[in-house]
Amino acid sequence: MQTVATTDSADTVDLGPASGLSCRECGERFALGPIFACEACFGPLEVAYDLPSGDAEELRKRIESGPENIWRYAPLLPVPADVASKPNLNPGFTKLVQADNLARELGVTGGLWVKDDSGNPTHSFKDRVVAQAIEAARAFGFTTLSCSSTGNLAGAVGAAAARAGFRSCVFIPHDLEQGKVVMAAVYGGELVGIEGNYDDVNRFCSELIGDPAGEGWGFVNVNLRPYYAEGSKTLAYEICEQLGWRLPDQIVIPIASGSQLTKIDKGLQELIKLGLVEDRPYKIFGAQAEGCSPVSVAFKAGHDVVRPQKPDTIAKSLAIGNPADGPYVLDICRRTGGAVEDVTDEEIVEAIKLLARTEGIFTETAGGTTLGVAKKLIEAGVIDPALTTVVVNTGDGLKTLDAVAPTTGMSAVIRPNLDSFREAGLV
Ligand SMILES: *Cc1c(COP(=O)(O)O)cnc(C)c1O
Ligand SMILES: [Zn+2]
Repeated sequence: MQTVATTDSADTVDLGPASGLSCRECGERFALGPIFACEACFGPLEVAYDLPSGDAEELRKRIESGPENIWRYAPLLPVPADVASKPNLNPGFTKLVQADNLARELGVTGGLWVKDDSGNPTHSFKDRVVAQAIEAARAFGFTTLSCSSTGNLAGAVGAAAARAGFRSCVFIPHDLEQGKVVMAAVYGGELVGIEGNYDDVNRFCSELIGDPAGEGWGFVNVNLRPYYAEGSKTLAYEICEQLGWRLPDQIVIPIASGSQLTKIDKGLQELIKLGLVEDRPYKIFGAQAEGCSPVSVAFKAGHDVVRPQKPDTIAKSLAIGNPADGPYVLDICRRTGGAVEDVTDEEIVEAIKLLARTEGIFTETAGGTTLGVAKKLIEAGVIDPALTTVVVNTGDGLKTLDAVAPTTGMSAVIRPNLDSFREAGLV
């Protein structure tokens, strides 16, 4: 099942506070290594930690005096202590924008923020997760970085590999937006289009891992997935720190595989356990596009299992028809009193324009999905407008121009004189 390029034994692997891997289903423990499924029950593995014990105030000060990127949280991540001195893209500590104009428009009175991850080095939240996977790849001696991607991940892997000195070869569905294809190719690694959807790409990558052709390859979201996934915890850490070490009451998160949503919850739980934030209830809401809504459908039907779908939506970065973390997302949204909802492609486009018009933030279709769902749930009274709410914007609108191009454009084309300007009716 696993391909290890060197014979590093578990005790020579230094991934900081990470103490091993544990099965999310049966709890079985494993040594740190490039494995992702439990040998006992095939359940997914996640990183287990020896988290810092002791004074919360001291830990808070240590974090606050750290670098202005995700490595300020290195004591809580599966990375070596000197991670900040290695060549990587140093993502994170993106803006938490207080969205008062948007709040007014949506009737939110309790405070509304947009966590704007379009500000990351390759303009999506994927830089956070790739940064963890790179450290695991170094520790396990991989020389080639790879992934199955809905677009943004391919670019994040290509860029991080270029900077860190890895070869890269990434796989995407062949029909992605031009912005994503160019972003993935420009860093000089191999980019392979697969004739099929994301779920086909992912199946292909799983086959490649078991084949000699994939020897020495670290697939950031497959055989390095337990490490990769931890990167999303940094969104939770940053949101709370930027709110003044406080939990938001409500947080709205997009769902592709569901990994990000589950790890934001894990990050919030850790902050509570470490005493860095006050333990109060919070609600987590998941967002999908109607054209790829397997988790939303299961949530609304009251099911525990997620039935796969064939995606058909403009929100291509969220187009995973068989989401690996679907059941965990259902658990979290139900346990916290949140919900999962979906919106149509038209509502996604409207929400992209709403965010641009009110806050000057141009998001991609995934962000349109998240804000569209937030709006729908506020209007339905499911999200409480009197409580603090954070909407996570995971990507950049420049990568999905086609979504808004048909309904945007110049107000007028005029001759360069004042008469012509007046005739255009703009004054
Ligand atoms: C990958 C991606 C997501 C969601 O990722 P999962 O962790 O797989 O749920 C959300 N938004 C954007 C823009 C993405 O690229
Ligand atoms: Zn197990």
